[in-house]
Amino acid sequence: MKTKQSYQGFALLSAAVFLLNTSCAQLSSGGTKDVTAGIKHVYVIGIDGLSSEGLNKAKTPYMDSLIRNGALCDRVRTVLPSSSSPNWASMLMGAGPEIHGITSNEWKLNKHDLEPVVTNDQAYFPTVLSVICAQRPEAKTGMLYHWDEFGRLFESALPSVDKHFRTEEETAKAIAGYIKEEKPEFIFSQLDHVDAAGHQFGHMTRGYLDAVARADSLVGIITDAVREAKIEDETLIFIVSDHGGINRGHGGTNIKEVTVPFILSGAGIKKNYPVPAEVYMYDVAPTIIFAFGLKAPHAWRGKAIECAFEGIEAPQDPLHLTRPSTF
Ligand SMILES: [Zn+2]
Repeated sequence: MKTKQSYQGFALLSAAVFLLNTSCAQLSSGGTKDVTAGIKHVYVIGIDGLSSEGLNKAKTPYMDSLIRNGALCDRVRTVLPSSSSPNWASMLMGAGPEIHGITSNEWKLNKHDLEPVVTNDQAYFPTVLSVICAQRPEAKTGMLYHWDEFGRLFESALPSVDKHFRTEEETAKAIAGYIKEEKPEFIFSQLDHVDAAGHQFGHMTRGYLDAVARADSLVGIITDAVREAKIEDETLIFIVSDHGGINRGHGGTNIKEVTVPFILSGAGIKKNYPVPAEVYMYDVAPTIIFAFGLKAPHAWRGKAIECAFEGIEAPQDPLHLTRPSTF
């Protein structure tokens, strides 16, 4: 039986939560340190090509459980173009393509059209990895990914582990093994097979939805590892996606291409909470930095999804704004 609500239902629920949050006495926040003090590990699981519609329709018991025990951003807007490199880069770099310069899948560090606004000593626009390594040099950090090209989007000299795997299953099992053996502070991972199924079978086809269900079972392998490592109470799981799709592709401006879900679940995060605020691709890096209690570079433009964290109220907008209820 489906546990997720319809989009319309969710929009109404979001609106209700927003009203509650703006009309009731606010919880007092003890400041960033108190709110995030219990978060020792942040594990990002990236599912390439997972659309909001795909998460809603596929059989995903593990992610449904993360949603019940966490916060769901049901309609995150991608950057343009809605292709992989600009969006993964925007997640890692806290800013959009016009700022970090990764404007297409053809991008290479030594061959691109647009220079980043600023670079660090690794010649990259500063990634979340570089911020963690600079401010927590003792932290164990892992970049584990299925799409080999993902590896060019961050400073390869920085992570404790930088590894590309041939299949989604190998990637997930390696992540689980790394968690159980090393209990690293930070993992950013990427599973590529949902995107591949979108290209092969078409988005929202049976083959695509089966791939989403498979991604869910791999999420289960990773969350089981967190439990086995006995760090469940101090770990924030962050599910992200880079774009959706339409027919057999993506990269354009159709709402089905540019709308993806994020899930935050675990340590420090509210439970069963539909995030009532707008969330964008470049909010990922600032959210991770917020969870670790670190300082973000000035050059970043994303905002931490602060209201997903316990004790922090939803933002109160000075304008009355309407979100479209469905797409
Ligand atoms: Zn992609």
